[in-house]
Order: sequence, then structure tokens, then C-alpha cells
Amino acid sequence: MAQADRVETGRKVWAPWYTLHKVYAGLIDMYTLCGNEQALKIALGMARWARQRTDRLDEAQMQKMLGVEHGGINDALRNLYAVTGDPELLALARRFDHKAVLDPLAAHEDRLKGLHVNTQIPKVIGAARAYELTGESCFHDAATYFWNQVTAARCYAAGGTSNDEHWRTEPYRMASELGRESHETCCTYNMLRLTRHLFTWNPEARYADYYERALFNGILATQDPANGMMMYYVPMASGFYKTFMTPEDSFWCCTGTGMENHAKYGDSIYFHDESGLFVNLFIASELDWIERGIRIRQETSFPEEANTKLIVRTGRPAEFALKVRIPSWVAPGGKAVLNGKPLEAFSSPGSHLVLKRTWRDGDTLLIDLPMKLYLERLPDDADTAAILYGPLVLAGDLGSERLTADKVLGPMGPSGEAVAVPRLAGDRRQLDSWIKQVPGKILTFRTVGAGRPDDVTLVPFYKLFGCRYAIYWELRN
Ligand SMILES: [Zn+2]
Repeated sequence: MAQADRVETGRKVWAPWYTLHKVYAGLIDMYTLCGNEQALKIALGMARWARQRTDRLDEAQMQKMLGVEHGGINDALRNLYAVTGDPELLALARRFDHKAVLDPLAAHEDRLKGLHVNTQIPKVIGAARAYELTGESCFHDAATYFWNQVTAARCYAAGGTSNDEHWRTEPYRMASELGRESHETCCTYNMLRLTRHLFTWNPEARYADYYERALFNGILATQDPANGMMMYYVPMASGFYKTFMTPEDSFWCCTGTGMENHAKYGDSIYFHDESGLFVNLFIASELDWIERGIRIRQETSFPEEANTKLIVRTGRPAEFALKVRIPSWVAPGGKAVLNGKPLEAFSSPGSHLVLKRTWRDGDTLLIDLPMKLYLERLPDDADTAAILYGPLVLAGDLGSERLTADKVLGPMGPSGEAVAVPRLAGDRRQLDSWIKQVPGKILTFRTVGAGRPDDVTLVPFYKLFGCRYAIYWELRN
């Protein structure tokens, strides 16, 4: 209550509505996912309290208060409206739309420079939810423009965004933004949430391409498989290292979203519309499509092998379109094989392969998705680039010099100086002439005669733990 007083009157305070949003979101999930009526009752009581508090504020006071981080309170209140149909909740949610941020976005203006990143993304998710519930085009425009702009002009190769928690530059200015406290994990979490909304409005493969990139490189890479600990910042500056929370003494924002992150691997693999089923991600899984009485089993060890197998289980033959994403990164030679017979049709990279037919029990579709090496350059420095293989960002192992447990476990980001990072002087158009697979080691590469002064071993960023690394390389002699 005291915090709410402070934020309403412009006094110094942390972020009471941000915290409340998290509580709302948890309660609404408990109701919608688990049917817990008590959770809904509490959330509605909290919404009544929010309305009483904010009824006393005029529009100018309200907008001033929204200058303080408030998470996705506009999203949570809309989700409560979606559950109850109470128009007062929709009106209350609208009062929490921060116009200084959403209005320029709806007008396709990037005024993001200087803003705290993870404060803004949830506001846009709230706008996306507004469009879904009311159909108002300004919210659609704000959300789609924001997504396009952030993914194209403000994201790193690993799919995340932010440097020192902010967008500090004009768009497409990334060379100065390879920081040791960059790529806050909460920002990746929220971009993934926003991406799910946008894909459901317009099921284009590019949304799922981004989702895969951020999931494998910006999320999977942030949990240490040895102990389950998770990351806050993900350094994009070369020569630093990953740092992790401790079990009891570092409960960060990224710890909370981290708990959700690593439960997400199952939630955006499949989508459906009236005509069929989208397979967006290649993750071993089984889908129970209850409405149609169909099961899809996906067998794969992707990305360790560049293919997947989809097996249809259905009690009776069923006509539908199976729409498998053919990623933008796929190399020549991709193919689809149905029940042992290669199909003439494939699909261009960055689209869905649509197979509309009557599916029978046991039908099996194999999809080969060959990967290749490629560079992703900084938009404002063509001589600095990340190296990718398929959807995977490769990171160079730079050893474990001066890496002690107290540096790695506990801090939100790395400390001290970076170690020296080799420059890579290989032919930029012929990566496979100087980046070679290490025989017998899956997804492991080594530069050959290109490192200055030394060659380097490259592995997927999600497999690299316990050492210093580089994602971005200077491509100079
Ligand atoms: Zn965070």
C-alpha cells in the first residue's frame, strides 16, 4: 500500500505494479490452467483494489505513474477480462496502457532509444492482447511494428536484446552494444511471449524462425545443465563468461522468468488452425490433438541431427494439412519423405511445407533439414560477425583463465577484464574452407589456419559452460 502511494505521487519507489503483475499472472494461470477458483477470486479482489486506487487518479496522473516500470499489468487485467467478460476490467486495463510508448509504435516510429528494455516489452504484450480481445488496429500496429523493429534492428544473434538493460542507440546501431551486461534473459522471455501472439495472427515461418533462434541460443544456453542454475545477463562482449544464480541468495527477475523459460520447451512446437496443424519446432514430443482425435509423435534428436520424424496416430483416416516449417537457415538438399517415398515437393526456406491429404494411422513423414555455416554481421560493422550453423549460434571456447567459483556463481554478470580474443581471417564466402567439423564430436568445429594468433574450437552456445567465450568475432587479418 505504501509503495502504491509512492508510485502514484511520483516519489522514489521500485516497481510495485511490476510485482503485482507477476502475482496476477500466477493467479490467472492457476485458474486457467488448473481450474483453481480461489486463485480467480483473489485476482478479482486485487483488480477491485486496483480500480479503487486508480479511480482517484486523472488521466495525466495515471500516465505519469506509468513512467515507472509496471510489467504487463495491462496484459493481466485483459486476461482477467477474457475469463470473466466483465467490461470494467477491460476499461481498467486500458488505463494501464502507457501512451508515451505505445502511441509512437502504433505510428511506426522507433523512439526506443534510451528506454529500459524489459519495462517496455510487457506493455506491448498487453497491447497484443488488446488487439486479440477488441480488434482495434492501433494495438495490432504497435505490436507488429515493435516486433519487426526489435528483431531486425536491436537483437543479437542469440535472439535477445538490451545492453545494460537499455536500448542505448538508434536502430541498427549494434557495434557499440556488445556488452558484458547485455541480452538480459527476461527480455528474451518476453520477446518469445510476444512472438507467440504474432504467429497466431499471421502464421508466417519467420516468427517461428525467430522463436527457434531465441529458444535454442537465448534460453537453452542460460541454464547450467550441471546444477540447474540460470543466468541474468548474457554477455555479448567477447572474452567474458556466463554467470549464474545461486539456489538461495540471488532471486532475480531472471530467476522467476527463468523458472518459466525452461518449462517452455513443450509449448510452441505445434499450433493449429481450421485447416490443419503447424509443426514449428523440432523437439521430440507427442501432441494429443484432442479436438480431432489425432496424435502426432515427433521423434528427433535435433539439433544434434538435422532431421525429424513425424508419425501420425489416428483412429480413422483424417483429412488435414500438415504444415511443417522449413527454416530460413536450411541448406540445399532438404527433403521430405512420406512413408518411405521421397516427395517431389519441398518448400523454400522460411516457409511452411503444406501437405494436405487424408492421413492414416501410422503415416510417417521424415524431414531432412541440412544445416550450413554462415555469418551474421553487425548491421553497422560488416567486419564483426557471429558464426552460425543452422539455427545455432557457435561460441568459441576461450579457456577458463581467472574463472573462480565466486566469479561465476552469484553475480548477475561477469567482472574483471576480458581475455584476448583471436581475430578470424578466413575467407568470408567459404566458411567451410576454414571452419571444420571435429571428427567424432557432434556439433563441434575448429578453425584451421584462420585464427590470429590462435585457432579456436567452436561449439553451440547452449553447450558451452565453464569457460570464457566469444560469440562475435573480428573478421580481420
Ligand atoms: Zn531479468
